[in-house]
Amino acid sequence: MSYDFDLFVIGAGSGGIATARRAAQYGAKVGIVESDRLGGTCVNRGCVPKKLMVYASHFPAGFEESAGYGWTVGESSFDWLKMITAVNDEVTRLNGIYQRMLDTSEVKLYEGYGKFIDAHTIEIGDNLDSPYNAGNPRNGLSRKVTAEKILIAVGGKPVKPKNIKGIEHAITSREIFNVKEQPKRMVIIGGGYIGVEFACILNGLGTEVTVVIRGDKILRGFDEDIRDEIQTGMQNHGIKFVTGCNCDRMVIDKTDSGLKITVPTNDGKEETIVADAASLAATGRKPDLANLGLENTQVEVVKGAVAVDEYNKTAEDNIYAVGDCTDRINLTPVAINEGRAFADTHFGGQSRQMSYENVPSAVFTTPEAATVGLSEAEAKEKYGDAVKVYRSKFRPMYYTLPDKQEKTMMKLIVDTNTDKVVGAHMVGDGAAEIIQGVAVAVKMGATKANFDATVGIHPSSAEEFVTMR
Ligand code: NDP
Repeated sequence: MSYDFDLFVIGAGSGGIATARRAAQYGAKVGIVESDRLGGTCVNRGCVPKKLMVYASHFPAGFEESAGYGWTVGESSFDWLKMITAVNDEVTRLNGIYQRMLDTSEVKLYEGYGKFIDAHTIEIGDNLDSPYNAGNPRNGLSRKVTAEKILIAVGGKPVKPKNIKGIEHAITSREIFNVKEQPKRMVIIGGGYIGVEFACILNGLGTEVTVVIRGDKILRGFDEDIRDEIQTGMQNHGIKFVTGCNCDRMVIDKTDSGLKITVPTNDGKEETIVADAASLAATGRKPDLANLGLENTQVEVVKGAVAVDEYNKTAEDNIYAVGDCTDRINLTPVAINEGRAFADTHFGGQSRQMSYENVPSAVFTTPEAATVGLSEAEAKEKYGDAVKVYRSKFRPMYYTLPDKQEKTMMKLIVDTNTDKVVGAHMVGDGAAEIIQGVAVAVKMGATKANFDATVGIHPSSAEEFVTMR
């Protein structure tokens, strides 16, 4: 049987585009469909605009610290709309780059919403359910394409907790990048990556921020020292926390003076916080599978995510899935790696699986944090008493002249049976940049002796990783 395409990809985000291009490089005839702007969450509503806003949020502290180095900075002011416009202009520039990359790879792009008619046929129509396309249908008529293999790379979307009364008044990370006026007071519900990153961005830009969490600590799943260090750092920078929230019984009321948020806590008390028009629900994301027509295939959905094997294959032999819609490790570079492994395997004559061991990640809070490998608790569960922990906390040299009490914390976790470093964690300036390098060593199976034998770069914070005793 002949098909229109060797591979057809649904979703032109990080995973979908990387896969399409790699397959096309091997000579496959590839098509891709996208109902929104190219680049997916990472480029349009995630990593990229977020990181640009992180940079924007660091300037006030920099102005203050410069005095310690003899600088006098004139009166400074911040224009939120100017920042939002600049950030969105950069996103538009990146959309164009993605378009050119698809063009040069000879991947055919369809604008519209892809839906399975059967295991080999996709109907491309308008995404009438998307608030972004409402009233602006791109294609009037739907078309059908057929493909030998189909890759689902549709990503995820934020979820708002349904039980919170008045949750419709809260925005999510989808909308925050288009808010035209800086919120003066913001309540953030949720202490995951998105909640804490936006808490720090907004706080740095001068918004009064309160973070509401169910437990007593942010960033569940991270090393306990990392969670404590970030949360303490955030509090020291003026962010308020309401912990032990009985979030299901929270109420958000719209009043003349803003949003009144009533937060019952597990100890029977109640906090009332008043915020501006918007508050942010950062309570997790889920695969975006609505209207995909999966019921017309054998593809299985387990706990809301597309179920795949280690080669990204679904229960339908010719349909594969990568990235957040499979809910494995929801990070851009993971989706890209999964997609390239798939393309190498099916179009490049190799047999490749993505390795999920020692995937590093960073949280772009202030203070920043990054991590690779096992947390102390995970290591102890796996290796018991053989675990040795090296910890170092210090004030980086940069803060001496401004005389600020900002700290950096580093931690190495070693399995003494083998001397291997099984976890490396850091909270402090440059954590993401530093841990990326350390991750290479950890991934290669470096031992503590290897770290000790490495000469430090002096003076730097990073050298602490090779001098811990
Ligand atoms: P996360 O799953 O990381 O965190 C969700 C947070 O919301 C948790 O604190 C959770 O609390 C809380 N929560 C969940 N349900 C409720 C509820 N009903 N009421 C109150 N609080 C609730 O989700 P995010 O949205 O922050 O991020 C999604 C994913 O995006 C991440 O897992 C990550 O993979 C990716 N991401 C990565 C970034 C990076 O690499 N820097 C940046 C941003 C996103 P509890 O702990 O109590 O369950």
